[in-house]
Amino acid sequence: MTSPDSINLEHLNHDRFKSWSFSQNICTTCGICSSSCPVSGVEGFDPRKLVRMVRLGFQEQLVETRWPWICTMCGKCAYVCPMKIDIANIVRGIRSLRDRDQVPGILHKGIDAALKTGNNLALPKEDYLFILEDVAEEIAAEPGFEGFKAPVDKEGANILTTIHNKLVNTHTEDLKHWWKIFHVAKEDWTLVSENWEGTNWGYFTGDDTAMKTFIGRIVEHMEQLNISSLMCPE
Ligand code: SF4
Ligand code: SF4
Repeated sequence: MTSPDSINLEHLNHDRFKSWSFSQNICTTCGICSSSCPVSGVEGFDPRKLVRMVRLGFQEQLVETRWPWICTMCGKCAYVCPMKIDIANIVRGIRSLRDRDQVPGILHKGIDAALKTGNNLALPKEDYLFILEDVAEEIAAEPGFEGFKAPVDKEGANILTTIHNKLVNTHTEDLKHWWKIFHVAKEDWTLVSENWEGTNWGYFTGDDTAMKTFIGRIVEHMEQLNISSLMCPE
């Protein structure tokens, strides 16, 4: 990361990000974004400085630094910014400029796996279905949930719900809360058996092509199963 002491003025290019419509040029450098940011200070990360660097056109430094990958894209900064500057989308724009094979490991691998297998973990279909059934059986063992089953590929259901990969990996307990609410509310819902990944790392890494592919799969499920409502717990 270029420190403020070593900025080479020849690198300044105010017009470099002119086409970006995130209002970066009207930043007042008030610093409210930095005070509200949950990761401000991590490896020197500072959203106010990041916006300033975009304003000044430091493309190479921004793309090479880890800063855009430290940001969680939570959007708190934009919420508090008096100038309504969309910092999360600025971060996404910077991420999109990185060569894809330089995208931090787990994200790059996850996108690759999702494009090939339909989920970020490359979890085989039979293992995925086994986990869903296993969780459903645990729920069915609880009083009041006798006979509970997790519906898969149910045509005409009211709601399609996607799955975040961690929910079938390390956080299966979290699935139970949603499913139990559906059951008690007598909701007509379904999961899908293929291309079930609900996390869109194409979006988070600034990869528009992958992002559209993942969204397209969800749309396809809804059209094929004739479902009009989506719950995407991501
Ligand atoms: S809160 Fe907005 S105006 Fe203030 S420093 Fe951050 S981006 Fe600039
Ligand atoms: S979007 Fe990024 S910069 Fe803004 S508050 Fe969240 S983590 Fe901080």
